[in-house]
Amino acid sequence: MSKISNGMRQSKLFTKTRREAPADEVSKNAQLLVRAGYVHKEMAGVYSYLPLGKKVLEKIEQVVREEMDAIGGQEVRMATLHPSEPWKQTGAWDSVDVVFKIKSRTEKEYTIGQSEEEIITPIAREYVTSYKDLPVAIYQIGQKYRDELRAKSGIMRGREFTMKDMYSFHETQEDFDRFYALAKESYLKIYTRLGLIAKATEASGGAFTKKLSYEFMVLTDAGEDDILYCSDCSFCVNAEISDQKEGDACTRCHKGSLARARASEVGNIFDLGEKYAKDFSFTYKDREGKDQRPIMGCFGIGISRLMGVMVETFADDKGLVWPEAVAPFAVHLVSLGRDGDEISKLADAVYDDLRKAGVEVLYDDRDSRAGEKFAESDLLGLPQRIIVGKDAVATGTFEVVNRATGSVEKKTREAILAR
Ligand code: ATP
Ligand code: MG
Repeated sequence: MSKISNGMRQSKLFTKTRREAPADEVSKNAQLLVRAGYVHKEMAGVYSYLPLGKKVLEKIEQVVREEMDAIGGQEVRMATLHPSEPWKQTGAWDSVDVVFKIKSRTEKEYTIGQSEEEIITPIAREYVTSYKDLPVAIYQIGQKYRDELRAKSGIMRGREFTMKDMYSFHETQEDFDRFYALAKESYLKIYTRLGLIAKATEASGGAFTKKLSYEFMVLTDAGEDDILYCSDCSFCVNAEISDQKEGDACTRCHKGSLARARASEVGNIFDLGEKYAKDFSFTYKDREGKDQRPIMGCFGIGISRLMGVMVETFADDKGLVWPEAVAPFAVHLVSLGRDGDEISKLADAVYDDLRKAGVEVLYDDRDSRAGEKFAESDLLGLPQRIIVGKDAVATGTFEVVNRATGSVEKKTREAILAR
């Protein structure tokens, strides 16, 4: 296995940026990501992720993976092509409208995963036979497929998209509640690490439970949900299920009042109760040797939607802006030299230095105009731009531009490397 390279010459980068926004994209996230060459649109709601886009997605995945592992999640990769039988067994084949249905040439029916309860429950039934095998939490990060009606939000609502889905099984409701609280904290940690402020919103439990579920919402006008949240405490509710209005006093803290805002759901956690255990006759032997059904939970995070939300949240009129936690490269090294001159020699040397220091760096080593390079650099949105021009050769100091704030600092070669 080769290690991920932490350097890339832009002259060799597979993709190029484009000046014009694609005519068929209405959402800001898709317009910018397509222009910057991070993604390529195949059809409404389906995108390919190109080298820069794939790096961002993988960094988001890694943050999520670390936090899932930290609460005891075990990672798997479940099948994407599913037999229709378990879906018929739970009723979802007919009741869930986004399920894709595929017929083979021998008239056999299949679906492609829109969620994986139908796959994980039969797997868990095989390995969980005693209370000693509980609790357990299994997760994966992978593609999901949904026959969504509207797909106008760019990568925020895909017909194919990347999700982290975790499923947990428990002996008792108390143990489920313990894990549920842990998962909620873990989710908030993930969004914080990504630089986002997410609110845990009380929502309806959906089809299988009368209990509340939590949706994790990031405020953005690009979202498709409406929430009411308290100006003072952490109370937040999906406007869809609430009879409260904007301006009402908060019923939790009795101090603040409710504000209404557009938001995007970047994750949710559900108590599934015994629904799937019942459907698949899944029981384990309890401490008295009696058969019991486990309590099950599911925990989703929209990985690719998060990437879209991050674009919507951080981008400005010049282009993408990535926080360092997910940027495809930490540094954009921009040489203003021409092939073989003093400037480009210095830039080559700094590129080597940065790579040796373990800094992930995209090196614009191409012969084009400074203005063009800077505009492109802004569009790509790497956190820090280091410019190698005439004055760097003359004075030994480099202009370092912070993409998010636009602030400019002069730094010596040593200071650039000391990160
Ligand atoms: P939504 O209400 O937005 O359709 P959902 O309730 O159907 O979401 P889940 O089935 O719980 O979502 O999926 C878990 C997470 O996957 C969601 O919180 C969301 O972040 C993400 N997600 C769901 N549908 C899509 C989609 N079509 N494209 C991208 N991400 C999605
Ligand atoms: Mg949905």
